Amino acid sequence: MTDASLNVCINCGRNEAEIPLTSWRLAGEIFWICPDCLPFLIHRRSEIMPKWRLAGWKVQQNEGESDAKR
Ligand SMILES: [Zn+2]
Repeated sequence: MTDASLNVCINCGRNEAEIPLTSWRLAGEIFWICPDCLPFLIHRRSEIMPKWRLAGWKVQQNEGESDAKR
């Protein structure tokens, strides 16, 4: 059972009690990410961000629902 009051990494789901998290903003929306997942944001942003389903992120291809479910 996870504590809903803790922020979680948007990519791996670990919370701030387990790993340091930093917050990022996108179009007014805040998301949290851990150091392990930060490289994805830096180097593979166009690939990883559609999976996070942030409202501010324009998804280029809507059929990207394949089998990439984390
Ligand atoms: Zn993470």
